[in-house]
Amino acid sequence: MARLSLPIADYVRAYGPHISDSPVRGWDHKPTVEKLVKTHCCFCGMQCGIQLQVAGNQVVGFEPWEEFPFNEGRLCPKGVKRYMQTHHPDRLTSPLIRTEAGFREASWDEALDLVVRKVREIQAKQGKNAFAMMSGVSLSNEKSYLVGKFARLALNTANLDYNGRFCMVSAGAGNKKAFGIDRTANSWSDLPEAEVILVAGSNVSECFPTLMHYIWQARDRGARLIVVDPRITPIGRTADLHLAVRPGTDSALNQALLAELIVHGWIDETFVRTRCSGWDELVASVATCTPEWAEAITGVPADQIRSAARMWGQAKTSFLLHARGVEQHTKGVDNVLSLINLVLATGRLGRKGCGYGTITGQGNGQGGREHGHKCDQLPGNRDIENPVHRAHVCKVWGITDEELPHKGKTAVEIFEDIHEGAIGGLLNICCNPMVSHPDLNYVRAALERLPFLCVIDFFMSETARYADVVLPGSLQEEEEGTTTTAEARVVRIRAAVSPPGEARTDTWILLELARRLGRADKFTYADNQEIFNELRRASSGGTTDYTGITWERVEREMGVFWPCPSEGHPGTPRLFEDQRSYHPDGLFHLHTTAYRPSAEVPDAEYPIYWTSGRSVFHYLSGTQTRRIKFLVDKAPGPLCEMHPELATRLGLVDRQLVTVETRRGALTVPLAVVESIRPDTVFVPYHWPEALAANQLTVRALDPVSKMPEFKVAACRVRAATADEATRARALFAELRLEAPEDAARTRRQVAP
Ligand code: SF4
Repeated sequence: MARLSLPIADYVRAYGPHISDSPVRGWDHKPTVEKLVKTHCCFCGMQCGIQLQVAGNQVVGFEPWEEFPFNEGRLCPKGVKRYMQTHHPDRLTSPLIRTEAGFREASWDEALDLVVRKVREIQAKQGKNAFAMMSGVSLSNEKSYLVGKFARLALNTANLDYNGRFCMVSAGAGNKKAFGIDRTANSWSDLPEAEVILVAGSNVSECFPTLMHYIWQARDRGARLIVVDPRITPIGRTADLHLAVRPGTDSALNQALLAELIVHGWIDETFVRTRCSGWDELVASVATCTPEWAEAITGVPADQIRSAARMWGQAKTSFLLHARGVEQHTKGVDNVLSLINLVLATGRLGRKGCGYGTITGQGNGQGGREHGHKCDQLPGNRDIENPVHRAHVCKVWGITDEELPHKGKTAVEIFEDIHEGAIGGLLNICCNPMVSHPDLNYVRAALERLPFLCVIDFFMSETARYADVVLPGSLQEEEEGTTTTAEARVVRIRAAVSPPGEARTDTWILLELARRLGRADKFTYADNQEIFNELRRASSGGTTDYTGITWERVEREMGVFWPCPSEGHPGTPRLFEDQRSYHPDGLFHLHTTAYRPSAEVPDAEYPIYWTSGRSVFHYLSGTQTRRIKFLVDKAPGPLCEMHPELATRLGLVDRQLVTVETRRGALTVPLAVVESIRPDTVFVPYHWPEALAANQLTVRALDPVSKMPEFKVAACRVRAATADEATRARALFAELRLEAPEDAARTRRQVAP
């Protein structure tokens, strides 16, 4: 059983997060830089180019990489500080085995042998699928591919899933349904040519800051901007039209926008009649979706809906962007499809200035969802249940169909199986369910009853504390490879330094485990380039075709866009130039999306909408960014954003400690009274753990198609914290070495743009 051996404070004392405020050799040391390594930021899906300064096998700083075409040297605060994590004092440098008194250091042989013994014991007792694997999409393409093959051939389990389940699966499912292919349709260089840009559910300025450059370029050329978000985020402040949609009602808004386009004839009739299927059904489905109907559901005034439809409808060129705000719902796929309908209805894609994009959140969120890293997927974005797809991959891997597991459980379902005892072992690489999963008290209970947990990571994450074995892995800058950016550009990741101490590359760890599990014959790679070359063969003929992409080309051309089916192919920055989709019939598929309520909506007991999201200063579960002083200073802890009207009604004041409760949990945080949020909604960012974790409050309900959890909507209530709660919150902040709550609120207000 994996109950924590020690109080959390003891883990924090031993393994952090400690807050580092200087580069590895201090601010005063001026090292002689031996080499500059051109690579990419390890954080978000923009994968900005950066040059790491290296001296004596240490990353000592960075320089802009101005030639890299996407960001031309620009970086956001996380990118500027990312080099400070490489030699952070919290790095795990030795395998660890759990004891009654915490962890003890172990040799690699002892730790790996223990993992292998447990895999065999659990599978002998409960069957192959009783040992599951969870993975992260910060991993490179090579590692994503390797994880998919390792789980199926070395662990022999169907139960492999990844934390992209919480990021891109609704967008991916919607893209595949409509277009037959899962990627953004254009490179970002098409954005500045657009006359109108519609951004739905994306806090672009904070989550993808360097993408803003392209939107500003469009604005400089006169483009109009429509932003749909319950909050007036920084990009919302600059919009011509901000539609403050009620959380969970996006598809109703999009249906009304489409109905207005139809009523006014702002439709490309030729395109929808000759290049799309499902037009007549779609028209019939929105016949009664008037702006007034949508206003009643969404809270967006009917006049604003008419204005947005006019802006979108009358433009000659346009670009639609969306992200997690519309995707992390139990109807995330419907939300995505209802937005794609707006693009297809106007026939504006496949040419300069006419585009569509879903903005990938995690570092390799694009590549990570292509190479067989998901429970239902094989490399090339193939379907694990399709006999033809299986046959192709079996041939590349040299196995029979019987040896290849079928579809397994998704991320949330894996934790449900742990609860029920059907899964007895978990290998978790580079993801942090104890912060990033919904309904964290449920996740904690699952980990506490899980018989065996092994974690591969470079820092002691909140999840790793529950592990029986912790294997110290590598950072992005410690392995050669590639990632695929949010615009589907495959880029080269360089090993600037080697992992510290006894830490090993993730690839070495997986290959060594495969060898000890008796499958060395299937994992005979001399280096990561051989893994990539096998990935290319496995992807060949799939929609995500990397056949023509070589490491040398990627480096020479500063990225190659897939699909790229041969080495002579130039790559594909813009899809659909021939007005054909990737469906066998070549048509774009329109889908009806009847509005349905969220899994949980406010009621008398929990009368307020809850929503969540990110801060510009932190990356996802914060494992990396909560260790870097500049970023922690700027955003030391979570705050509850609330409109002044609601604060007055509840008798609450700015900076006061409040307790936010849902049916699943409660957290006590400082209040930030701001006018930039709907008066019926509160917002808490989710980067923090334990009692400060926003995801204690979220709902475990799933989208029926994508199995994405409902992160963006819940019903909550808010009240002043009791004296006991306030005391506990202050103690917790001290324990986690964060600023006192009230000071945290002050800091945030000082830096608010
Ligand atoms: S976090 Fe994203 S936007 Fe910021 S520097 Fe890194 S890749 Fe670029």
